[in-house]
Amino acid sequence: LFPTLLSPLQVGDVTLKNRIFSSGHDTVMVHDGAVTDQLVEYHRARAAGGAGLIIMQVAGIHETARYTYHVLMATDDSCIAGYRRVAEAAHEHGCALFGQVFHPGREIMESQDGALPVAYAPSAVPNERFRVMPRPMSQAMIAEVVAGYAAGARRLQRAGLDGVEIVASHGYLPAQFLNPELNLRTDQYGGDLDNRMRFLREIVSAVREAVGPGFAVGVRVSGIEHSSVEDEPTDIVEVCRRLDADGSLDYLNITEGTSASRSGSLHIVPPMSEEAAYTAPAAAKIKAAVSIPVLVAGRINQPQEAEIVIAKGQADACAMTRALICDPDMPAKAQAQRPDDIRACIGCNQACIGHFQAGYPISCIQRPETGREREFGTLVITPKPKDVMVVGGGPAGMKAAAVAAQRGHRVTLYEASGRVGGQVLLAERLPGRSEFGGAATNLQSELDRYGVIVKTRVEVDATMITAERPDHVIIATGATPYRPPLELDGDMPVLEAWDVIGTGGGNTPKGEIVVADWRGDWTGLGVAEMLAREGRKVTLCVNGYAAGEQLQQYTRIAMLRAATEAKVRVIPHARLFGADDDTVYLVNTLTGEPIILDGVDGLVLALGHQQNDALLAEVESTGIPFTGVGDCLAPRTVEEAVLDGLRAAAALYE
Ligand code: SF4
Repeated sequence: LFPTLLSPLQVGDVTLKNRIFSSGHDTVMVHDGAVTDQLVEYHRARAAGGAGLIIMQVAGIHETARYTYHVLMATDDSCIAGYRRVAEAAHEHGCALFGQVFHPGREIMESQDGALPVAYAPSAVPNERFRVMPRPMSQAMIAEVVAGYAAGARRLQRAGLDGVEIVASHGYLPAQFLNPELNLRTDQYGGDLDNRMRFLREIVSAVREAVGPGFAVGVRVSGIEHSSVEDEPTDIVEVCRRLDADGSLDYLNITEGTSASRSGSLHIVPPMSEEAAYTAPAAAKIKAAVSIPVLVAGRINQPQEAEIVIAKGQADACAMTRALICDPDMPAKAQAQRPDDIRACIGCNQACIGHFQAGYPISCIQRPETGREREFGTLVITPKPKDVMVVGGGPAGMKAAAVAAQRGHRVTLYEASGRVGGQVLLAERLPGRSEFGGAATNLQSELDRYGVIVKTRVEVDATMITAERPDHVIIATGATPYRPPLELDGDMPVLEAWDVIGTGGGNTPKGEIVVADWRGDWTGLGVAEMLAREGRKVTLCVNGYAAGEQLQQYTRIAMLRAATEAKVRVIPHARLFGADDDTVYLVNTLTGEPIILDGVDGLVLALGHQQNDALLAEVESTGIPFTGVGDCLAPRTVEEAVLDGLRAAAALYE
């Protein structure tokens, strides 16, 4: 298995032991622009798991490059000590380490400490995503920024890294110079392609001059920007061909998208609705035009897919960044020919890029140990195995059971229905969300691997717990749909969204359907799209400013696009209060005006859920130690439920 993926790759003078790498990604594990202990341990875990190369996240090379408050900075020598710690951690495991040098241009996201940043770009063209109007860079500033790239790269080299990557992808500053729609300059940095490339070429040659030979220098570009309604504004293949011909580069790293992409910024971290390895054709075009190695990133989440990309000659190495966030040991498992043991990333984006966008350290919904390596990084087998009874086979119960068994406890999991998986089994039935089921499959395989005894169709009560007398009970009994007091008269069919999804829409009338959504998560938006795709006329009434407002941004863009294509009508700020035979009554939460929808054939409720917590109180009376996890405590996302499960199992030592 994986003969090409696991073979070495020469990048300049650097030999990578295999072709799996972690591409540069923000971690929110940076403090005051510097590497933290948390970041060192995060990368150590991926290096220990067998990655051939880690490319660290962007580092600002100029004071105007602080695009978030948690960006790494390489503007002075104080960065060197932190970088050196990551380099030592990576090298200890035979993993090469590159860093990224970066300027965002007009892609400035947030102010820091109340400061009001000023964005600079080639020209004053507004950034619609971040609502920024940049100032054009003077030629003196261009020279200063170019020198900043070179000085930053030299600092990374002094810290013991093996290479540096110039970030010209995703619409950041060098890409802004390349793009004639953003670069309106009339000096030698604007106009024809040679002029628009001048800034990037000056960076490449200044960096090479600063680091000399033997240190890998690469450029990251978006092979397709998806930024214009018509043709691509920049001929990226030609840009790459010219960069290669200049002779200073050791590799190119290809991705897709910019923040101005047609589908919003969806391509920066593509969600599960995008195909696996969808960027490989763009990389292949560039590979055919250049002589240096071409790396590629873009939802390559399984070694089987990476092997195909490389074996077909579309690229020389594959970024498997989220795959490594989800399972840092993935390369080692591939090497050991145990692909079935790999916990596959499902592209949900909730805890990786989702955390970044929320401003806290990245993790994984399936593997909350990620980002918490200092707390959970070392597997300790218990010296005092316990008999553990887990009640409930949703994500929280499954995770608790798997981790407890992995750590040496004797675990039995009881599930009332015929199948473990909980709400994941519903989420996977929605259009474009089938991969979500991978979360349950992965947990099921962990239960098998660690020897958890699973008993389905068993209702557990306090009498049974008392009879079994386990050392500890973990209660993960989940939730049921929330039904508030509503004024319901007449015979309008009123259905719970979970039941609609569970029956694939089979229980829902044809015709006009109103979906009332109080959560803003995947449920309301997903069920609306599902019913619309089956030919119903669907109105989604959202008690908030927009549909899916709790979803991760790129997932939300993808789901909104799909719902729009399915012709779902969305009414925001609409709170349900009742229905009769064929009319649904809502109120506009901004104005207080009534919203009356006539001619409705069915009402679907996605109003959230409430704890199924009766067993918690019952068990308390038995005196047997217990822990509640997941939805039975309070409404939990899958991520929160899995983290609950991990914490409960880890606490069994205490
Ligand atoms: Fe993959 Fe979702 Fe985990 Fe991110 S949070 S690494 S997308 S499974």
